[in-house]
Amino acid sequence: MGAQVFQTKEVQELLKAAAGLNEGSGGPRFRQIVYRLLSDLFKAIDDLDITPNEVWAGVNYLNKLGQDGEAALLAAGLGLEKYLDLRMDAADKQAGIDGGTPRTIEGPLYVAGAPVRESVAKIDIDPDHDAAPLVIHGTVTGPDGNPVAGAVVECWHANSKGFYSHFDPTGAQTELNLRGAVRTGVDGKYEFRTLMPVGYGCPPHGATQQLLNALGRHGNRPAHVHFFFTSANHRKLTTQFNVEGDPLIWDDFAYATREELIPHVIEKTGGTALGLKDDAYEAIEFNVTLTPLLQGKDNQIVNRLRVETTA
Ligand code: FE
Repeated sequence: MGAQVFQTKEVQELLKAAAGLNEGSGGPRFRQIVYRLLSDLFKAIDDLDITPNEVWAGVNYLNKLGQDGEAALLAAGLGLEKYLDLRMDAADKQAGIDGGTPRTIEGPLYVAGAPVRESVAKIDIDPDHDAAPLVIHGTVTGPDGNPVAGAVVECWHANSKGFYSHFDPTGAQTELNLRGAVRTGVDGKYEFRTLMPVGYGCPPHGATQQLLNALGRHGNRPAHVHFFFTSANHRKLTTQFNVEGDPLIWDDFAYATREELIPHVIEKTGGTALGLKDDAYEAIEFNVTLTPLLQGKDNQIVNRLRVETTA
C-alpha cells in the first residue's frame, strides 16, 4: 500500500483550487463536475497506488486518443454511450413512456447532409462487388399505431469492407455513399435500396484498439445499420438494427445489440425491377414505433460533434 494523502487538508484544498471552487467566474455546473471527476481520480490513485509511470502512460494515451480522433469511438467501446442509453431508458420508465422501438447508440460515424427523398432512396453510389443488394423497408407508426406521415428517416452503414464513407481510410468511397434520408408519406412507409454491410472493426493501430488490446478485448461490431427517425410530433429515435445471423450479435464491442433490434433477413427476387444490381436480393423489414413528445418537448435531441457535408 502506498502513501495515502487523499484525505489530507492539503490535497482537499488542492482539489478545490484546481476545480476553480475558489473562483467567482466560470460555470458552477462545470466546476461541480470537474471537482467530482478530479476527486474520484485522485482517490483512485491513492486507493490503487497508481504509480507515476502509470499516470503518465494515461496522460500520453489521452494525447494519442486525441491525435487519432477516436475519443467518441472509445466512449462507445468503454460502454459510456450504452450507459447513457440505459439512463435514458430508466428516465423514460419514470416518465411513463413505454412501447416505442428501443433506442441504441448513435456511434461516431454519422454524417449529416444526405439529400431527403420521398419515401424511397437508393443510397449505394459506389460499386461494391463483394456486397449483395439489400432493401431495408418499414413503416413508422406513432404510439396510437397509426402511420406517421412526414417523418424523416436517416440511415447509414458500412460497405463490404466494414468502412463508412467520409471515414474510409482507403479513400475509396464517394462522400455520402451508403447514407440516405427519406420522408415518409401518409402510409408512414420508408425504403432504402442499398448493399449489405459487414461488421465494423476499430482502426487496428488506433488508440481505441490499443486500449482494448490491453484489456484483452476485441474491437469488432456485428453488421448493423444506423438510423435516426425524426418527426415533428414525436421524439427523435436514435437506433440501429443488427443483421440477423452475424456471429458477433451478442459480442458487440460497443454493446449496441438489443433483442428487439434483430429483424429477419428475407431472400427475395425481383431486384432488377427495383434498380438493384442483381435480381436476387435480401430484404429487411424494420418497423418502428415512435414515442410522444414529453410535455410538448423532444427530450431526445443530443448535441455532439457531427460531420456535416453535401453530396
Ligand atoms: Fe456503425
